[in-house]
Amino acid sequence: PAPGEDLLVLENVSKHFGGLKAVEGVSFTLRSGEILGLIGPNGAGKSTLFNVISGVLPPTSGRVSLRGQLISALSPRQIARRGLARTFQHVKLFPEMSLLGNAMMGGYARARAGVGRSLLHLERNEEAALQHDAAQQLARVGLGDVFELAGNLPLGQQRVLEIARALVADPTLLLLDEPAAGLRVGEKRELAALLKKLQAEGVTILIVEHDMDLVMNLVDRLVVMNYGEKLAEGRPREIQQHPAVREAYLGG
Ligand code: ADP
Ligand code: MG
Repeated sequence: PAPGEDLLVLENVSKHFGGLKAVEGVSFTLRSGEILGLIGPNGAGKSTLFNVISGVLPPTSGRVSLRGQLISALSPRQIARRGLARTFQHVKLFPEMSLLGNAMMGGYARARAGVGRSLLHLERNEEAALQHDAAQQLARVGLGDVFELAGNLPLGQQRVLEIARALVADPTLLLLDEPAAGLRVGEKRELAALLKKLQAEGVTILIVEHDMDLVMNLVDRLVVMNYGEKLAEGRPREIQQHPAVREAYLGG
């Protein structure tokens, strides 16, 4: 889609766990080319919303569309094939595997469908192409030593490796769940620069992040959640001045 066009549209999305309304009636639109921040206190429903968008959890009600196509009834793999990639709140890497091996896992979604078909069953030429793409994405994010073991990397680079793995799927839309959590100041600054670079290269980003300095300098717009509901939406400056947001989240 052209920059500024609707890419991801949420209409009245709810996700209930029994009586718990983890996400309740959330609607917003992510435009192609922007970085949209999703913020809110712990338990506000941000990760649950990511799980619904990426197909890990079916919504209780509501609709999610990607490039005008309804995706809320599709599997994670089908959604990935339509151009969505994500990272998880907690680092999910194979520490005993190389950076290259980990990055190649991001190509899983494009492996041809079929029972038992997985990375382990790729044709040799498919594997070579995947290896090439993985090396290219590692270089893109600035990770040069592709044969190093993932477990030997500092946390900041492990987060970046997860982003490289997501990029191997060549996503239009990247969902990042707290990619800066636990990072040192310098690592956060590098991460922010990387995300700006990816945006300039045409990747649209939806990011959950708690560090307000980082978020306010990074994103084009923000959606604020509280107790499962959308509390506010707007540009960083509007959000900082929003009375209900200040009261609920920014501490008055
Ligand atoms: P956030 O990411 O904003 O911190 P979450 O989406 O993780 O919030 O959680 C929102 C609410 O949903 C919390 O009360 C959490 O305990 C609950 N929750 C999340 N996932 C599940 C689940 N699989 N089963 C039951 N409750 C869940
Ligand atoms: Mg979360």
